[in-house]
Amino acid sequence: MVEIEKLRQEISRLNQDIRDLQISLSTTAEHGDLIEAQLYETNLKLQEEMVVRQRAEATLNALFDIISKERDDLEIIVQTIVEHGDVVDNQWYQKLREATRLANFDSLTQIANRLKFDGHLTKQWKQMMREQSSLSILLCDIDYFKQYNDTYGHVMGDGCLKKVARALNETLSRPTDLVARYGGEEFAAVLPQTGEEGALQVAKRMQMAIARLEIPHASSSINPYITLSIGVASTIPQPQRSPNSLVDEADQLLYRAKQQGRNRVVCQSEA
Ligand code: GH3
Ligand code: MG
Ligand code: MG
Repeated sequence: MVEIEKLRQEISRLNQDIRDLQISLSTTAEHGDLIEAQLYETNLKLQEEMVVRQRAEATLNALFDIISKERDDLEIIVQTIVEHGDVVDNQWYQKLREATRLANFDSLTQIANRLKFDGHLTKQWKQMMREQSSLSILLCDIDYFKQYNDTYGHVMGDGCLKKVARALNETLSRPTDLVARYGGEEFAAVLPQTGEEGALQVAKRMQMAIARLEIPHASSSINPYITLSIGVASTIPQPQRSPNSLVDEADQLLYRAKQQGRNRVVCQSEA
């Protein structure tokens, strides 16, 4: 009996084992499907990522090729500049000089133009303000120049302007003095370290230099030759005043010279 009981127990245990095994078998089967699906999906994602990475790599390679080529080109340019640097420097220097000359000089008369005049005036104005020294401006205008053009033609008019410009330029001796073509038949001079008395002397010298040219002006109602009217303004520059206000003053004095009969110099103290 005991043996039979033992056998029964053994059979029951074996049955339990079989049930356990069946359960774990079915669980494995169910989860196996899930794992397989997940593996499939992961695989798909990996493949997609590989395609993206391959494309990125191809783009990077292409970029690298372009950069390498540009670097080679740059190296050639740098090498050329290093080898021919002196020539290149010189060419640029010449171009810069020419551009500066064109920007600062009047093409007809070959003296300074208004741009150069303005720059020089600003610079000297500041310098004279530091030194508390006098600065004068002369504004010169050819008398009855319209009639001159009407009588002799524009080509002769241009020739006259050239002669007058050269003569005025030769009148100045100090390196900081400057005369410029200010407009059509108007010329302006900046005279640093010069008060009214000195400026009047320069203005008279200019008139005499023009008189010596003896450029005939048959239609002038005041003189058989070309003449100048000149306005002279002087000041010791102060911070509250602008250089342009001194030019305006010279312009008003020039206007007075015209009103008073032309071929004369008018300054502040004689206005
Ligand atoms: P005023 O005595 O009052 O100064 O009389 P004006 O005739 O000299 O002055 P106006 O302003 O009436 O005429 C100036 C003339 O200058 C007119 C213009 O044709 C001439 N002009 C200006 N620039 C040039 C130039 O570059 N070449 C020539 N030939 N003439 C010029
Ligand atoms: Mg004029
Ligand atoms: Mg004039």
